[in-house]
Amino acid sequence: MICQFQRTIKNPVKIEGIGLHSGEKSSIYLIPAKENEGIKFVKDSTVIPANINYAHSFDYSTTLFKDGKTVRTVEHIMAALYFTGIDNITIEIEGEELPIMDGSSKEFVDAVKKAGIVSLKEKKVYAVIEEVVEVVLQDKYIKASSYHTFKVIYQAKYENSIIGNRRFEYIPDSKDSFLGIYNARTYCFLEEIKYLRSKGLAKGGSLENAVVFDRDRVLNEEGLRFDDEPIRHKALDLIGDLYLLGYPVIGQIVSFKGGHRLNAELVKSLISANAFSLKTASEVLDLRDNIALTIR
Ligand SMILES: [Zn+2]
Repeated sequence: MICQFQRTIKNPVKIEGIGLHSGEKSSIYLIPAKENEGIKFVKDSTVIPANINYAHSFDYSTTLFKDGKTVRTVEHIMAALYFTGIDNITIEIEGEELPIMDGSSKEFVDAVKKAGIVSLKEKKVYAVIEEVVEVVLQDKYIKASSYHTFKVIYQAKYENSIIGNRRFEYIPDSKDSFLGIYNARTYCFLEEIKYLRSKGLAKGGSLENAVVFDRDRVLNEEGLRFDDEPIRHKALDLIGDLYLLGYPVIGQIVSFKGGHRLNAELVKSLISANAFSLKTASEVLDLRDNIALTIR
């Protein structure tokens, strides 16, 4: 969905929970922001822009870092801000990690809706992909190319029979098109948990905030929200990480087995290759008309 104007929230809203990796209590306050202020995290009065330049670590989550201050696991709230079209917001955080909530972006989207969404006076700016950019890492890759709208394709390749070779495609073509993706939860495999904990990760992980697989069996009593929930979550992570570009993207992104590291490398490569141009909503729509004319 293309919006003409930038957006923020109407009222402040607080969200409380625990960090997935730290296991510690964490609260965030979402505060309205002005035009062109962008998305910013504030940790102990240090302002950390939600921008790839401050992305620091990509092990099982995306971490931002500036002046000795860390904000972990930003990807799900970034996806929620993308889904709700928010360009300007300040997120004050107590603790070092965003609360994991139910393991998806659902509760962040709900909080933004509860706070109310308002349009601002400045025009919204999109990053329109113009060049092909590809990043390859071992047997994984991610590729961005020009397309008339935003489109994400995630292709998995796992031994696990539930995830298997599934492919998920997302195009935000209507107001609520995020409904099939925004509540897809993060997941892990039972055999991974010991390893993650030995690395000081997933300390707050539980069946309340992640889907846990024991080989091909889902341990969560309520089962999966979608047959392909893990793949939908990988696409959600990609969308959240991609929003660290600073603008919503118009273009096609294909990820084969990608994760946070590849997502971040793609964002860096898009910038270093100068692979996109900034356009307003009406310029994006003009572009589409031109494409339609060419096809005809
Ligand atoms: Zn995730």
